Amino acid sequence: MGILEVKGVNKRFGGLQALGDVNLSIEENTVHAIIGPNGAGKSTLLNCLVGKLIPDSGSVSFDGQSVLGRSPHEINQMGISRVFQTPEIFGDLTVFENVMIPCFAKRDGTFKLNGIGSVLSQRDIRDQAMAMLEDVNMADKAHVHSASLSRGDKRRLEMAMCLAQEPKMLLLDEPTAGMARADTNNTIDLLKEIKQKRDITIAIIEHDMHVVFSLAERITVLAQGTPLVEDTPENIKGHPKVQEAYLGG
Ligand code: ADP
Ligand code: MG
Repeated sequence: MGILEVKGVNKRFGGLQALGDVNLSIEENTVHAIIGPNGAGKSTLLNCLVGKLIPDSGSVSFDGQSVLGRSPHEINQMGISRVFQTPEIFGDLTVFENVMIPCFAKRDGTFKLNGIGSVLSQRDIRDQAMAMLEDVNMADKAHVHSASLSRGDKRRLEMAMCLAQEPKMLLLDEPTAGMARADTNNTIDLLKEIKQKRDITIAIIEHDMHVVFSLAERITVLAQGTPLVEDTPENIKGHPKVQEAYLGG
């Protein structure tokens, strides 16, 4: 059984069947890509996993527990961390202060922004935050104002903030959309480094085949709301059904 199990999930928006009988199993500690043409239902599926949307029918379980009926916050506490397309960081704070926030929240369960003064005095939390920055190769930028970071570094910082929550699984929705090739390659390297350094499951929705084939161990192809095939990258390449879905043949 996978760490994430999706069974018979359906989701309609009015007359449109966005997801039709989706079954998906993601093995623990693998990188699993979900690909498919625009409008295939990839983001809808991801939203059903994180509690932003509730499926009309079917089940979704993570680590043996159902996620259905839980809030996005509760699902996050279960160990699923979603990486947003636009990094959600506090530009007014330094890189280090940004990473302190999830480290502190993890410890305390609550966080008040006006508590930053007392947060800074906690040595073990500071050490943890610095370790997260080292994990994403940003320790040298700890005291840089976050607003002035490059796009690639903002992505690195956001990843450090996600990892500070100690998630079991990361969900990424088109993390390289709109990026130049250099930043895309930087993101691929970052995800590879993260995977090497810890046990974590990564589900990535991605349009860019270069990214998919650089990272994924398993690929599910979604077309018109239904999984078409699931296989290894080697077998997905040149698969007639995949060609058909992408080329509209
Ligand atoms: P993808 O991420 O694969 O491009 P989406 O999951 O965003 O696809 O969308 C799947 C289908 O559902 C599309 O036809 C889209 O227009 C429709 N859709 C997505 N979200 C909504 C919504 N909130 N209301 C109505 N239709 C939606
Ligand atoms: Mg989408």
